[in-house]
Amino acid sequence: MNILLLGPPGAGKGTIAQVLVETGNYGLLSTGHMLRQAIADKTELGLKAQAIMDSGKLVSDEIMLGLVAQFLADNVAASGIVFDGFPRTLVQAKAMQERPIKVDKVIFLRVADEVIVARMAGRRVHPDSGRVYHLVNNPPVTPNIDDITGEPLITRADDKEEVVRERLRVYREQTEPLVEFYRTLAAHGDMVFQEVDAALAVEKVIAAITSN
Ligand code: AMP
Repeated sequence: MNILLLGPPGAGKGTIAQVLVETGNYGLLSTGHMLRQAIADKTELGLKAQAIMDSGKLVSDEIMLGLVAQFLADNVAASGIVFDGFPRTLVQAKAMQERPIKVDKVIFLRVADEVIVARMAGRRVHPDSGRVYHLVNNPPVTPNIDDITGEPLITRADDKEEVVRERLRVYREQTEPLVEFYRTLAAHGDMVFQEVDAALAVEKVIAAITSN
């Protein structure tokens, strides 16, 4: 079963994806993590993507579709995939519908802007793995240290408040139309569409997803 997580930045897509992957039933496709990896590796793609990401804008559809096609070619054996952060535009969503890979379920994480801005301020990540924590909602066992590797956590440059507000604006303009796109497909029986209140605690969001 392939699951697509849809929702604004800071809705908890990364955290939910992590929990689903830890069940052992899914592989993870996180385009944000792939891009951050490319930046860390100083690849040509990483150099192009960094300034765009730091400003809160979206990387071009052409680059993203190439990156995802490569990932899917390398991961054909995965039993199911959780899509975190892809697609983010109608062009990407339509391109995905044309691929053999079928989206079985779309989970829309709905949450108000002010909750997001407050959340992002407390977010910390482990750069190598992409594991996400939150100072209050999902703290690591030792402050500022990754639970698995013992390495330090960082704050993402694009989690600064002014960048978060720009990311929310970009989300409304380019990604929010996907909600109606997938609702319509679900109404035709092509997939399941589930809307979840993502302002709830992570465990409650997970319970809502797994009981449905
Ligand atoms: P994320 O970790 O999913 O919040 O992604 C961080 C940043 O990477 C976004 O703000 C975008 O600049 C870029 N990005 C990630 N996924 C996509 C995508 N599917 N399309 C365009 N840009 C993306």
